[in-house]
Amino acid sequence: MPPVFDCLIIGGGPAGLTAAIYMARFRRSVALIDNGRSRAELIPVSHNFPGFPDGVTGLSLLGRLNAQLSAYEVARFDGLADALERDAGGFAACFGPERVMGRTVILTTGITDAGMDTPNWATAVSKGALRLCPVCDAYEIIDKRVAIMARTEGAMAHALFLRTYTADLTLIHVMEKDGLTTDQKNCLSEAGIGLLESSQAALKVSETGEAAAVVDGQVHVFDSIYPMFGCRPRSGLALALGADCDSAGNLVTDAYQQTSVPGLYAAGDVVSGLNQISVAVGQAAVAATHINVELPRRW
Ligand SMILES: Cc1cc2nc3c(=O)[nH]c(=O)nc-3n(C[C@H](O)[C@H](O)[C@H](O)COP(=O)(O)OP(=O)(O)OC[C@H]3O[C@@H](n4cnc5c(N)ncnc54)[C@H](O)[C@@H]3O)c2cc1C
Repeated sequence: MPPVFDCLIIGGGPAGLTAAIYMARFRRSVALIDNGRSRAELIPVSHNFPGFPDGVTGLSLLGRLNAQLSAYEVARFDGLADALERDAGGFAACFGPERVMGRTVILTTGITDAGMDTPNWATAVSKGALRLCPVCDAYEIIDKRVAIMARTEGAMAHALFLRTYTADLTLIHVMEKDGLTTDQKNCLSEAGIGLLESSQAALKVSETGEAAAVVDGQVHVFDSIYPMFGCRPRSGLALALGADCDSAGNLVTDAYQQTSVPGLYAAGDVVSGLNQISVAVGQAAVAATHINVELPRRW
């Protein structure tokens, strides 16, 4: 019979690696399945993750977490889990012909950013010419020439948030139907935020990673552009088991990070809420600790 692990962790970004460290230190048997597409790999340098006064690159942080985990006995599987099933003993994750069984699961599969198919997107992100997360790095664009591209939903909130950091700010409203209301335009004007509105607005990124906005055929150059076109949660494995989610498909959990499916926990970006490393590792710690309490004692 194949082993049934105390905990199966799907996703090896900051949340999954933290969950694995906690479970292993609780002396639980752990399997970690990951296909190596952590969003954290895209972070050029993070200055808001506590404990790194000079900042830390995403790759360096992942390297440190992996090095920390390597001290413990954890079964690691490289690949994409393409299905998660419930069985009498708990859960089975399937990837290719393999099945890995666990009494409990922590899903830490993260999200996929919109726009990744734009040519040279990753190069521009690595240079900070494209930025995806104002909470993460708006402090780095203080007094720079900045644009935010957004559809109607969220456009105002993102623009007003960024205005704290620079007076040279333009909102490029990618119109789906209507333009902004008069009240919204007045609000932007009072805040000193420029506005370009068009249904014909697109990003253009050069091979060397410089980003520009093309609005009605005219090229507008900025130091940084925030394209705020949302993201796709990688929550499908849990949704297929009937787990509750919010309107965008992010998983909803209780205070212990348990989804509406008993024994199935979730942590990190895939959970509805703030997409931050600190949040991801905190949720992972909560999930792992609760699972350890819920499982039969081990001695
Ligand atoms: C450009 C950029 C800058 C950022 N800057 C900051 C910052 O400064 N500070 C900050 O706090 N946050 C920052 N973030 C956000 C941060 O990267 C995320 O909050 C963090 O990576 C979330 O960790 P996670 O473990 O939940 O998900 P991820 O890091 O995305 O890891 C998920 C893992 O699960 C794997 N996976 C997914 N589905 C499967 C499957 N079915 N089977 C197997 N494996 C699977 C993926 O391959 C991946 O390895 C930034 C993000 C970006 C894109």
